[in-house]
Amino acid sequence: MSAQAEREAAGELEALLQFLYLCPVGVIKLAGCGRVDMLNPMASQLLMPLARPGSGLDNLFEVLGDCAPELRGLVSGFARPRGTICESYQVEVAAPAPGRMGVVLAITLIQIDADCLMAVLVDISQSVAQERMIRAREERLRAIFDGIRDYAIYTLDREGRVDSWNRSVQRVQGYSAEEALGQPLGFDSCDEARAQVTEPEQRLRAACESGWHEDEGWRVRRDGSRFWANSIVSVLSDAECGVTGYSVITRDITERKHAEDALRRLASTDALTGLYNRRFFFEQAEREAAQAVHTRGSLAFLILDADHFKRINDRYGHAVGDAVLKELASVCARCVRSTDVLARYGGEEFVIMLRQTTLADALTAAERIRQAIAQCGVVSGDETVRFTVSIGVASLRRSVQDAIHRADQALYAAKQQGRNRVALACEEGEGTRHAALS
Ligand code: GH3
Ligand code: MG
Ligand code: MG
Repeated sequence: MSAQAEREAAGELEALLQFLYLCPVGVIKLAGCGRVDMLNPMASQLLMPLARPGSGLDNLFEVLGDCAPELRGLVSGFARPRGTICESYQVEVAAPAPGRMGVVLAITLIQIDADCLMAVLVDISQSVAQERMIRAREERLRAIFDGIRDYAIYTLDREGRVDSWNRSVQRVQGYSAEEALGQPLGFDSCDEARAQVTEPEQRLRAACESGWHEDEGWRVRRDGSRFWANSIVSVLSDAECGVTGYSVITRDITERKHAEDALRRLASTDALTGLYNRRFFFEQAEREAAQAVHTRGSLAFLILDADHFKRINDRYGHAVGDAVLKELASVCARCVRSTDVLARYGGEEFVIMLRQTTLADALTAAERIRQAIAQCGVVSGDETVRFTVSIGVASLRRSVQDAIHRADQALYAAKQQGRNRVALACEEGEGTRHAALS
């Protein structure tokens, strides 16, 4: 070899050694018995804490004897002349103190030829610690989801399809992960409720605009049962990609809904007769009147007042008076259609709103009611208490208040003309006239 070639070879060797010297992973050349022939500084740095007093780092299998005794067997059991014996084999070196994590090494062993092996050691302590932390967090989250009773929490991907499902949702909604994953938001809505709830696309859009969207409605469980749900969709986003998906929190509030409905019913009904009360009647009437004006539909009102009711109370007592009012209410209820609204106006007065009804038809209905009431009675001891009503009829012209006022005037006229009769409210320019029927 020429002096020039020798110099070049020495230079290359120097570069190679420099490369191994600075290499951030440990590299070891060893024999099949584990004897270390060569190792770079990173390898000795990683193994030094494990070195046994006296023998140092002479034999890799002995150095790792306590934490990876199986390595020797892996090597002796490797039958091929060359190749990878193990790749990134994870070895945890004993922790320096209780509660603290020891160093974790990833060891790759390669058979180079009959009695030459290469070991590559990488310190993966940090990534293992991170992985463990993520796993611990996931475990904790899962424990929270598993423990939640009333809430169902799941996530949607960017397109609004379910991409995570857990026991909390399974418990509330009954669907398994296989059934739910990939389904669009709203897959659990009731068919008949679908028209009332906000469209899923609209909910996602609203969530994107304001960060979240809340709604309430019927949902259907896997077994077909329904529950009233409060559901909040929130946007999941990051600075780089914007919206990455959505979280959905659904809460079964059926009991609260039932309690609210019962309260609403209580607030809209009269305790004695079970009919709607005056307040509810006016709410309905105003709504209906607005629609009737819009559609040019006809709307009629009847006001009924028990005749000489004071006398009934005086003669038979208040309890019989109450029974008469209840009987009056149920006769009226039987005489009207389900679309009509019947309410106790106050005391011994009742009011009825007849939808889609002309004044002439309202007059006929009023007469039918008057006759039905005149024919019934309430038993009190040996007697049957008979009673009658006077009825004022008006149709919607300007407003609900105006129609009720005119019906009331007609009622007054009916009373004036002898009671147990029906009177029609005056139209503009006319005086009150009572029906020829009575
Ligand atoms: P008119 O034919 O002119 O309507 O005579 P009336 O006696 O029916 O009218 P009045 O207004 O003088 O008396 C109504 C009575 O109705 C007086 C009131 O004590 C009675 N009343 C009001 N509410 C109730 C109730 O809930 N139960 C009972 N038993 N009586 C009631
Ligand atoms: Mg009265
Ligand atoms: Mg009366």
